[in-house]
This record gives sequence, structure tokens and C-alpha cells, in this order.
Amino acid sequence: MSNREAAVIGAGTMGNGIAHVFALSGFEVHLVDVDQNYLDRALATIRKNLERQIKKGILTADKTEAALKRIHPATSIEDVKNSRVVVEAIIENPEAKKEVFKKLDAICPAETLLASNTSSISITELAAVTQRPEKCIGMHFMNPVPVMTLVEVIRGLATSDETFSAILDLSRELGKTPVAVNDYPGFISNRVLMPMINEAVFCLMEGVADREAIDTVMKLGMNHPMGPLTLADFIGLDVCLHILNVLYDGLGDPKYRPCPLLKKMVAAGYLGRKTGKGFYDYGR
Ligand code: NAD
Repeated sequence: MSNREAAVIGAGTMGNGIAHVFALSGFEVHLVDVDQNYLDRALATIRKNLERQIKKGILTADKTEAALKRIHPATSIEDVKNSRVVVEAIIENPEAKKEVFKKLDAICPAETLLASNTSSISITELAAVTQRPEKCIGMHFMNPVPVMTLVEVIRGLATSDETFSAILDLSRELGKTPVAVNDYPGFISNRVLMPMINEAVFCLMEGVADREAIDTVMKLGMNHPMGPLTLADFIGLDVCLHILNVLYDGLGDPKYRPCPLLKKMVAAGYLGRKTGKGFYDYGR
């Protein structure tokens, strides 16, 4: 098995960013999706983001072309079988992810590490469908992956020390700062972030202040680059609601109950930027 071969399953928002950073760090990357159109779109996005890095003076044109050549798109998961590590970044659906983990476990050699970029699904649960739970781990990259330096490295109940330390090293090799987290609902990022967003929605619902005031307090008062309601629109209100439900169900504490206004907005199809309307209007 080549030490410099990696794979990413799912070429969406996160998958293309993860492939981007692996390729720039010198890995040959197999990028897998279900449809050639998604792969074409992912490669176009990667090229655009690399060109943006050239403009910022972070990258040279030569390095960009070399990195692009190291990305090997594929619609067959079989292509990943020689990879040292596979990062799964498909849709946030436990059954779909378990299916991918089972397939990877069947086709990859015993030493391949299987990572998931999930935001909210238990790593322990994904690992349990494989014959190698000690080699399964979470690598929770942040969006946009080429820009954000954090990776939450999530240890499942069975993750071995070897796997954990290999993934910490790999994250550093990718230019990221890994943070060790144990497998509990929402990890750290969403367990801390989502209750804050939820509380901001409660403030809006109860008429404590209007949307601009709530965002301004957190921006100017707490030095956050974006107010919580703007951030919720950016993440997607459906995604926020889903993660709050994961926290509520997984931790069983009523403090995580999603705000009724958030539920109502999702029910109305006001999902934030992606639908043109959330807490703010995006003029579509
Ligand atoms: P996305 O919808 O943009 O992309 C998912 C991709 O997976 C799609 O291209 C889809 O065609 C593909 N796919 C679905 N089933 C597949 C399969 N069986 N095999 C191969 N490809 C398959 O989603 P995203 O925003 O990139 O999120 C991916 C993962 O990353 C999710 O688990 C999400 O929770 C997590 N995540 C997202 C963000 C974010 O801000 N978007 C941040 C951190 C983590």
C-alpha cells in the first residue's frame, strides 16, 4: 500500500475541500461520488479555490497544476482500495454512511484507516459495522476546508491509540491543527455552537431584540466575525435543527430542545442562504 495514497468519498462541499488539502500536501487522492457530474463540479470548484490561493500569493501556478493532477475522480468505490486513509464525506445520513463503511471495510486492506467527516453521527456506531473498529475515527474538518485550520479528531469507543496518533500526525501534515475529542453527541464544535444559535433564535422569538440587534451584540460584544442568526443562515436552518435534535436525543437534556421558531422556519422551507430566505432575505 502506497503511503501517499488517500481517498475521499463524497465530492460535495466538504469532500472537494478535503481532496484539495490532501492533493496540496502531496497525496494521490481518489475522489469518489455517485455521479460523474458531481465529480466534474467538484474538480471545477477545486480549481477555482486553488486559483484563489494563487491570487492571495499562498500558492504558485506550478503547485496548483501538480495538485490537480494528483486528484483521481471515480464513480466506483473500488478505486480507493490501496489508500492509506479514506475520509468519508457523503450526506449526513447514518444508514448511507454505514453502507459506505461496510463497503470500505470489505475492499480495503486491514491497515487502511477509515475516517468520517460527520458533524453529528456517532463514530462508535459507524465503526461497529466494520471488522476494524479500532481503525475507525472522526476527522471533522470545518467549512471551507482549505481555509479553516481546525480538525476535530474524534475517538470512537474502540479507536486505538495507534489510529488516533496517526490521524493527529496526518492532520498536521495537511497543515491543520487537530484537537482531540471523545465521541459524544455534537463533539465540541456543535455542542457549544448550536445551543448559542438556538438561544439567539429564542431571543428573537421572545422579542428580546430584533435580528440585527442580536447579531450586533455577538459581533461587537463578543468579537464573533458573524452574528449567530447570520451564521445559522449560512450553515442552513435544517442542518442546525438536525444537530440540535441529535444533541437533544443523544444527551437527553431539555436544555438542547430546538426553539419552536427554528422548527417553524424549517417547516416553511426557510432554510437560510441556500433557499434565499432564513432569518435574513437573500433576494432570490
Ligand atoms: P454535500 O451534500 O455538499 O455533499 C455530499 C456528497 O456526497 C454529494 O456530492 C453526494 O452525491 C455524495 N454522496 C452521497 N451518497 C454517496 C455515496 N454512497 N457514495 C459516494 N458519494 C455519495 O454535503 P457536505 O456539506 O459536503 O457534507 C458532507 C459531510 O460533511 C456530512 O457528513 C456533513 O455533516 C459533514 N460536514 C459538513 C459541513 C458543512 O459545513 N457543509 C461541515 C463539517 C462537516
